[in-house]
Amino acid sequence: MSDLPPVGHGLAAPSAAFAAAAPGRTPGPPLWLLLELTYRCPLHCVFCYNPTEFANTGAELSTDDWLRVLREARALGAVQLGLSGGEPLARDDLESIVAEARALGFYINLITSGIGLSEARIGALKRAGLDHIQLSFQDSSREMNDFLSSTRTFELKAQVAALIRQYDYPMVLNVVLHRHNIDHVGEILAMAERMGAQYVELANTQYYGWAWLNREQLLPSRAQLERAEEVTRAFRARVGNRMQVYFVVPDYFEVRPKACMSGLGSVFLAVAPDGTAMPCHAARMLPGLALPNVRTSPVREIWYESTAFNRFRGQGWMKEPCASCPERDTDFGGCRCQAYLLTGDADNADPVCDLSPHHHLVSEAVARAERAVAASAGQVQKLKFRDHRISIPVVTGDPVAGA
Ligand code: SF4
Ligand code: SF4
Repeated sequence: MSDLPPVGHGLAAPSAAFAAAAPGRTPGPPLWLLLELTYRCPLHCVFCYNPTEFANTGAELSTDDWLRVLREARALGAVQLGLSGGEPLARDDLESIVAEARALGFYINLITSGIGLSEARIGALKRAGLDHIQLSFQDSSREMNDFLSSTRTFELKAQVAALIRQYDYPMVLNVVLHRHNIDHVGEILAMAERMGAQYVELANTQYYGWAWLNREQLLPSRAQLERAEEVTRAFRARVGNRMQVYFVVPDYFEVRPKACMSGLGSVFLAVAPDGTAMPCHAARMLPGLALPNVRTSPVREIWYESTAFNRFRGQGWMKEPCASCPERDTDFGGCRCQAYLLTGDADNADPVCDLSPHHHLVSEAVARAERAVAASAGQVQKLKFRDHRISIPVVTGDPVAGA
């Protein structure tokens, strides 16, 4: 589960078969299509993966535009569709989009906070052909769930979980982990078991978007991480095949980076609410990438011919130590967004790698987290909640500030 970073309310990774089908050099089809239908969301998660400048993006695509994107992407060979946001249920044309995707033959996954999933809507989505629903929780306790999202939504989510079961969907829960909830993994898994979950993704926060702004308050300590892994192992041993539990380790604690997106431009195509097409959902932050837009360019042209999608294909862009590294076919130098956020240069090796001359930027952040946790300095008062009002000033900020 490491190809595609699980972010925000959680995006499932493309399967290993996808990664094997597209080794990151020659562009095969965009097998995995993610449509971020809207940045509107009733929640305000402190780890939200949406761009911090979301309030400054243009108007959302129309229904007709989304349907055209579906047809064009399917014609290119896209097979797996994620419908995300923001909260995709904020779009009242979601059912039409699902129906078209079903007619085209996509496997359709709705990635949702659950807010807005009434019985009427889940019934309509089922009839339209939705295959899969991934429901996010922020924590096992109402207090922490509601605090982290700055809402009162825990009970609503529990009701949605019941609806998902009632409508015969596999119960798939996602919980983003960080300093303030990682010690609750046992309780989170117990909650998932009570809800009859078949799959649970415990996705340690990836530090982009709002999570990057809050990194100093969210990064857990290594001891917290190891305890959570131990609890997860014991839980797995007890429940066996009744529940699949994925524990996605935060890459800050690794010495090699994740093979981000199986290489940018290999299998993954994201479209933002305003039609911006991206080789990764966070790529908007990369300077000078000249991202194309589906309003003005066909998906085929975007995928095969645009500068943005070709920019990080192959290995020609790599600097040392990646350029001559024997592992460059395995991890593709890691995450370009993380390289940019931490070093200011997207062509650098991902500093998670201990061969990177910038690795100290990661180890220093981990050391600060160790000290903060040891001092019990949760610093929740400093957390910045995803909010339209503070998104605007964030736009004017320096994205590397705080690195
Ligand atoms: S604020 Fe909304 S879009 Fe962002 S992670 Fe939370 S539920 Fe997801
Ligand atoms: S130097 Fe670059 S290619 Fe080699 S392991 Fe590190 S990130 Fe991967």
